[in-house]
Amino acid sequence: MSDGEIKSTWAAVQDHTRHFSDFTFVYPVISRRSKGLSIGVNLNPDKVCNFDCIYCEVDRRIPGAVTEVDLCQMKDELTAMVRFAKDGGLAKEPKFNEVPWLTREVKDIAFSGDGEPTMIRNFSECVETVVEVQQLEGLDKAKIVLITDASRLDKTEVKRGLETMDAHNGEIWGKLDAGTDEYYREINRSNVRFERILKNLLETARVRPIIVQSLFLKVHGEAMSAAELEAYCGRLRDLTAAGGQISEVHLYTVARPTPEAFATKLEVPELETMASAIREQTELKVSIFP
Ligand code: SF4
Repeated sequence: MSDGEIKSTWAAVQDHTRHFSDFTFVYPVISRRSKGLSIGVNLNPDKVCNFDCIYCEVDRRIPGAVTEVDLCQMKDELTAMVRFAKDGGLAKEPKFNEVPWLTREVKDIAFSGDGEPTMIRNFSECVETVVEVQQLEGLDKAKIVLITDASRLDKTEVKRGLETMDAHNGEIWGKLDAGTDEYYREINRSNVRFERILKNLLETARVRPIIVQSLFLKVHGEAMSAAELEAYCGRLRDLTAAGGQISEVHLYTVARPTPEAFATKLEVPELETMASAIREQTELKVSIFP
């Protein structure tokens, strides 16, 4: 990457006629799970994912805007966004001006977005780029979060990225939405075998504590059965019994209407009841984010 390239991207990113909503790879959100401002880094502008969750909000009928992640542009967008937040610019923006006190501190930078972040071929380089911004902008306290479906945590390239994250306040949020293979196929509709997901979660959680994130919902008006919830708790117990460290379980539900109209949200009391059952059966810390 040449200096010329850096300057030209930086100039485009800094252009005041260009609003941050026009950024390609970076976007701000106030996240309850992050307890404040999270800056999302979308490594899948092409919308590629190896899951096809029934609750996914990404509309894949419309193709992604770009197919490649330009690391130079991503770095400049991230730097500009961090500075915009710290300088108080974000606090004045619609959507953010109701909670201005939450917008100045970056709680985390999260690999998330329109697909599975670990599907990118140079994942570890993407992590290094984010770490560079984290260090240059004095964000040592901000976490670097990977929100993942866990399908590729066994890849050497991904493991390399995870090691870099470990050294820089990293945190992995691994998806587990089911207890049985059958329900996994119904909800996540992936060709990746359920056994592989479980193995990857275990191997990853043996190296460092992870957060398990689970989206529970209603399918054709029916919540997950009691037997499925029991099987799910069994999976969590298996993970911890085999040496996997789970610092917390995040339970959440459908937040917005999804392309699949039969996938709908759970009500707060329903999520609370499930969270209590999981606490009882696994002794893990469980938080809900309705
Ligand atoms: S893993 Fe995430 S991006 Fe992929 S289909 Fe599921 S919800 Fe959508």
